[in-house]
Amino acid sequence: MMDFYQGQQNLLQQAGRIVESETIPIDQASGRILAQTLSASLDAPAFNNSAMDGYAICGLKSKEWQLIGTVAAGDPQQIKLQSGQAVRIYTGARIPENTDAVIMQENISIIADSIKSTQMPKAGENIRYQGEELHQGDTLLQNGAFLNAQAIGLAAAQGARQLQVYQKLRVIIFTTGDELVSDNSDRKQNQIYDCNRPMLFAELKQHAFIEPIDGGILPDDLDTITTTLAQAASTNHSIIISGGASVGDRDFVKPAIAQLGRIEQWKLAIKPGKPFGWGRIKHCQIMLLPGNPVASFVTFKLLGLPALHNAAGRLQTDALPQSYQAKAAFTILPNQQKRRQFLRGTLRFTDTGPEVQPLIKQGSHMLSGCVQAQVLIDIPAETNIEPGQWLTVYPI
Ligand code: AMP
Ligand code: MG
Repeated sequence: MMDFYQGQQNLLQQAGRIVESETIPIDQASGRILAQTLSASLDAPAFNNSAMDGYAICGLKSKEWQLIGTVAAGDPQQIKLQSGQAVRIYTGARIPENTDAVIMQENISIIADSIKSTQMPKAGENIRYQGEELHQGDTLLQNGAFLNAQAIGLAAAQGARQLQVYQKLRVIIFTTGDELVSDNSDRKQNQIYDCNRPMLFAELKQHAFIEPIDGGILPDDLDTITTTLAQAASTNHSIIISGGASVGDRDFVKPAIAQLGRIEQWKLAIKPGKPFGWGRIKHCQIMLLPGNPVASFVTFKLLGLPALHNAAGRLQTDALPQSYQAKAAFTILPNQQKRRQFLRGTLRFTDTGPEVQPLIKQGSHMLSGCVQAQVLIDIPAETNIEPGQWLTVYPI
């Protein structure tokens, strides 16, 4: 069976990338993915300015300077100092010509129309120089950059009012199973409520670069699944389908995809989530998620979502889920599990660093254990775990 990280890499490489883009106002671009490389239109800072409220002085050797005026942020005037002169200056105000330093106001005493410094000023202190951060033409944001609040701030600081972003990725979600119902008046004996679709739909809705579409529940019927997937593949970028992905006689998702397109990979050496797979129907990517809710959730977080980020145009390195290291506060000895496990756990910050502890309810059908979880703990196959050992964890 294929290793998880190998599978994740293959999945990302095989994800088709969106090419369509649109130009939208910057105030609607939060969470979208940039479809252009943005360059600085101005130097940053755009002009020499004061980093402090204080006094701009000319003449480092003087002890006293004659105060000749005031300059505040946004003042249009251009002052020129002579040796022995100073101006009152505020943070962000343009530095007068010939300024040697800005002395912070805390170090100044005022005597009539002169100032004295309690300390020797240093050349250039408290001055923010034009271009010290960015030069005009420097790359601000790369094509494929995720537009978080900081990125939007950076673009706005350069006067950008519109941004070219990738179109939203149309992602349709289906669940399959004759046992599933979504309306509580419909539930018959031995049926269960569909929880994967609301759960995964909720996940999709958190991402501004995705336009989620609810495809509903499909019965365990090959013809219906085949017809529905063919239709969905012609109008969406990605299909997510949960359940029916195993090898039972009533698992029709794989045969349906095989008829319409192809399965690229099926099964990974992970627990939960072994039946995860992916494929393609014409230009549409399709991901098969296990029916068990926890397996569905875990594979969506670690495989489905990175693939969607990648398909949506995001830089490949950024598409992978965030991870960090934390110390085990538990033991698995011996670990005879042949698959890599992703245990649902809690995180605690201690004097010696972050510590993780798996929750008790680890069944792949037990969503309640997942709700309290803060992290997925990566437990490599057949690797003993002892307290204090550093492990990779994924925040959820
Ligand atoms: P399957 O992958 O279709 O064999 O389903 C595996 C298990 O997950 C079975 O117990 C199903 O009843 C359950 N299951 C499948 N889909 C869902 C769903 N959407 N919501 C809740 N449970 C599900
Ligand atoms: Mg089923």
